[in-house]
Amino acid sequence: MTQITLALTKGRILKETLPLLDQAGIEPLEDIFSSRKLVFETNRPKLRLLILRGSDVATYVQFGAADIGVAGKDLLLEHQGDGYYEPLDLGIARCKLMTAVAKGAPSHQGRLRVATKYVNIARKFYAEQGRQADLIKLYGAMELAPILELAHEIVDIVDTGNTLKANGLEVRDEIADISARLIVNKAAMKTKFSSIQSIVDAIGQAVEL
Ligand code: AMP
Repeated sequence: MTQITLALTKGRILKETLPLLDQAGIEPLEDIFSSRKLVFETNRPKLRLLILRGSDVATYVQFGAADIGVAGKDLLLEHQGDGYYEPLDLGIARCKLMTAVAKGAPSHQGRLRVATKYVNIARKFYAEQGRQADLIKLYGAMELAPILELAHEIVDIVDTGNTLKANGLEVRDEIADISARLIVNKAAMKTKFSSIQSIVDAIGQAVEL
């Protein structure tokens, strides 16, 4: 078996990914949460895990620095990269990509100002709707933008809606259903086919359980 590198997204997705990997027979040799390391060996001698920010997973896999990755569909849509397949919907870390506005705000006429970290997704969404939108890139705390009148709307991921509500916002339009996906580097899929296919199959079976 050849060396396989599997890039995982840290944070909320990681907590839901590790039980799936466990069911697929893949166990890190150390406790990931109590370590500051970024690379972990597993019980499979030729399989190692990388712990990355979600927005970097697609980049590592696209360029073949990792063979396989787990990333939220929101970040894959935003990445717009090529060079990888998306063979599995892992069904974890489910949420929705939505637009949101200040509670009770009338629908804004004319040119919209939209704050988001998902500028590529937002550009496409408003273009498809035939609405003119100026996009403001933010890296966090999107919920503040409508309240402080930085923007009329935000585009963000919403799970329970509690964060929006706590900040005086409400959802408006749904853009996409989101969940974590398994991605595979296209070249690695050819050159390391049997190793990768056995991992994809094992994780696929764990998803079905
Ligand atoms: P909620 O209050 O449940 O709607 O969740 C709100 C915040 O949690 C969002 O603004 C996101 O930053 C984060 N969040 C929700 N779902 C996910 C997910 N599946 N993956 C990563 N972050 C999430």
